[in-house]
Amino acid sequence: MTPSDSALGPVARAGVGGTPRPNVSFEFSPPKTPEAEEALWEAIRRLEPLNPSFVSVTYGAGGSTRDRTHRTVLRMLQETTLKPAAHLTCVEASREEVDEVIRDYWASGIRHIVALRGDPPGQIGGAYTPREDGYRNATELTAGIRAIAPFDVTVGLYPHVHPESPSLEHDIDVLKAKIDAGASRAVTQFFFDVDGFLRFMDRVRKAGVTIPISPGIMPVTNFTGLKKMARPIGIQLPHWLANLFEGLEKDPETRRLIAASVASEMCASLAEEGFGDFHFYTLNRPDLTYAICRVLGVRETPPEPKEAAA
Ligand code: FAD
Repeated sequence: MTPSDSALGPVARAGVGGTPRPNVSFEFSPPKTPEAEEALWEAIRRLEPLNPSFVSVTYGAGGSTRDRTHRTVLRMLQETTLKPAAHLTCVEASREEVDEVIRDYWASGIRHIVALRGDPPGQIGGAYTPREDGYRNATELTAGIRAIAPFDVTVGLYPHVHPESPSLEHDIDVLKAKIDAGASRAVTQFFFDVDGFLRFMDRVRKAGVTIPISPGIMPVTNFTGLKKMARPIGIQLPHWLANLFEGLEKDPETRRLIAASVASEMCASLAEEGFGDFHFYTLNRPDLTYAICRVLGVRETPPEPKEAAA
């Protein structure tokens, strides 16, 4: 970087190549229709050459996508160079049912699970009642997974504080319990307040947490949809974001350009703060994630050879 480069904004500074190539991971959802399946696989093929550390596939409320999640991770394993991770929740299932899914994953060659408690179906943010015969939370689920086989386990983390949690300290204690149970990485819920996130991470690190933590990046193009999603999970959307999208309800192209610009600036700022891992909620659409990865210096690279499943 030359002295004049320091006058540039974070995206332009990233273009100068001031930070090392970060690790990226991409999250997808299992498709509901043949058309959605086609779109998903186009997205996967577009992002695959960026050689992400892993890709993950979500698990619908109450295990509603159990088979589709399984099919999608398996196809990723068999037909791509990607390292897939399967999300798994313990809502509305007995330990025995969840353990069967875990054993199936291991037998199919899946080695990485994103372990989540999940939310009651149709009631995100509502009161959660664990099943008598089920795993009560993600800590118990993580321990259950590790008792079955030596999976890599990733867990969730909440920069805005989980809506059912009494405090940030409590959330950090829960994270530590998940690490003690065998989690080796965390991915955060999406957020837009970079300064707030940096303060949050400062407290997490000061509490002695050393595992890799990937900020969750949501390149959002539909602000109305985002508001609906954010409210029940306790995420306050900043005024500046609402302002940027105001009046653009019928202008999807401009919304996409704004979404790319907002997420690129967030990521470039976080990279400058030393963040080396990013997790993208792709919403099964590749273009914005691809563009933001370029800003971060992530380009097509040959895949590393996959480890043979034991
Ligand atoms: P936990 O870590 O179990 O925490 C849940 C709440 O219980 C917190 O308030 C915590 O403070 C409290 N708690 C936990 N343990 C204890 C304890 N021992 N004592 C007292 N309180 C405790 N949902 C899906 O349905 N499918 C998905 O695929 C999915 N993917 C996700 C991916 C990411 C990266 C993230 C961040 C979330 C995802 N979710 C998904 C949403 C997630 O299921 C919800 O946020 C859920 O409400 C909490 O899940 P958790 O794993 O963080 O739960």
